[in-house]
Amino acid sequence: MSQRPVIRLKPREGRRARHGAPWIFSNEIEMTAKTKSLAPGSVVQVKGADERDFGAGYFNAKSLIAVRLLEKDPAAQIDATFLEARLRRALRLREALSAAPFYRLVHAEGDDLPGLVVDRFADTLSVQISTAGMQALEAPLLDALSAVLAPANIVLKNDSASRALEGLDSHVRTVRGEAARVAIEENGVRYYADLAGGQKSGWYYDQRDNRAFMASLAKDRSVLDAYCYAGGFALAAAKAGAGEVTGIDSSAPALALAEESAAANRLKARFVKADVFEELERLWTAKETFDVVIADPPPFVRAKKDLEPGAKAYRKLARLAAAVTAPGGFLFLASCSHNISMERFKEECAAGILRSGRKAALIREAGAGPDHPVHPALPETAYLKGLVYALD
Ligand code: SAH
Repeated sequence: MSQRPVIRLKPREGRRARHGAPWIFSNEIEMTAKTKSLAPGSVVQVKGADERDFGAGYFNAKSLIAVRLLEKDPAAQIDATFLEARLRRALRLREALSAAPFYRLVHAEGDDLPGLVVDRFADTLSVQISTAGMQALEAPLLDALSAVLAPANIVLKNDSASRALEGLDSHVRTVRGEAARVAIEENGVRYYADLAGGQKSGWYYDQRDNRAFMASLAKDRSVLDAYCYAGGFALAAAKAGAGEVTGIDSSAPALALAEESAAANRLKARFVKADVFEELERLWTAKETFDVVIADPPPFVRAKKDLEPGAKAYRKLARLAAAVTAPGGFLFLASCSHNISMERFKEECAAGILRSGRKAALIREAGAGPDHPVHPALPETAYLKGLVYALD
């Protein structure tokens, strides 16, 4: 391992890494010509100006997070065996959490596998690689996944926007079997998702516990699921005995999956293709209300610079969603933007509800389910926020 390139930090740099974060930022590094010329994704070892060892990681000069640390031992082999051990640990945690094989199996830094997300749908895996370092490990990773789970189908959903920041292309490719369509069992409902064409990994496992909670409030009540995607909240509520259930989304393919799932589960729900803001304005004007309202939008703050307009959009959504919540009803508001803090999100939701003229009590604060572990030194990886209010 003597040839492994060494990345040197500037004096006193590596602050977050000293506190356990697996990230080294590009401005913390002595960028020599040799460093800059390292191939994106090269495995390196990192040393402080004081000779302190930060261990082994992978490097990308193009990325703001220039090194993602993988292992304390600077000479550790980063290969299929290494990845297999990490995957087995991730699997052990999921098996402790859930008997059914439907979950996020790997949650990047939360599982000490930066740049990698794997969602499991029984014997089908949806794999998302978001960094050059993990991309360079694709072949040993696929070997390791086979060794651990022998999956029948593997889809590489390498189409996240963040790949461009790492200099990576965007593609979706089936590397094993076929994986267009999967079924998911969750909260007693059988859902369908489309891995080849669907969004993100194909299914939003992060909301499973929040769906169960909202469903527990839904019996005999009317429910509006805004941004319903493939019917996650809507059908969990219908299964729990909701009265009328309406889902709204702008994506026709997502609504088709929701309808198919409703039929397969013999559940009654109405799905409407519309823009949520426009539809909420229309319902408000028409004085239509629902006992339980769920609003789980796409990220409004995609980058740090979008914080102010994004925060405003969350406030507006809270105002309109509260306006269509019936007296004595419940409102769930979510944000999946890691660029807005829970504090700020809560402030915007409170302001929006107040503007709608309603009085509300916050009865639940939640994040993603436990199959989305958060790295203790990376609070920003707790991206999902969900708030439940009881309205007067
Ligand atoms: N609540 C869903 C996940 C929502 S993801 C679940 O539990 O699985 C966000 C959804 O918002 C996507 O399905 C996307 O198609 C939809 N969307 C994005 N912009 C929209 C808009 N302006 N109006 C309606 N739906 C929108």
